[in-house]
Amino acid sequence: MFSSKAKHEYFEYHESKKDLSAGKLDPMEPLEECQGCGRKIYPGEEVYVINGYILHAEVSCLLDFLSVMPMPIEEALGVK
Ligand SMILES: [Zn+2]
Repeated sequence: MFSSKAKHEYFEYHESKKDLSAGKLDPMEPLEECQGCGRKIYPGEEVYVINGYILHAEVSCLLDFLSVMPMPIEEALGVK
């Protein structure tokens, strides 16, 4: 079973989750910074989580995060 300390942390964790779902957050107060575009992420926005990194649920943020850019196949193969 939980030690008393772990039990305390367990309940604190769930209390904070409850606050989130109850909409007690200030909608103007960013919760996180996007690891893709670097812009703030506000309550109510959808996100992707990749290996623990949080991004806006937008393709452009994914591409920024992965540092991939479209290029011609010739350039990718170095045959140009
Ligand atoms: Zn973003």
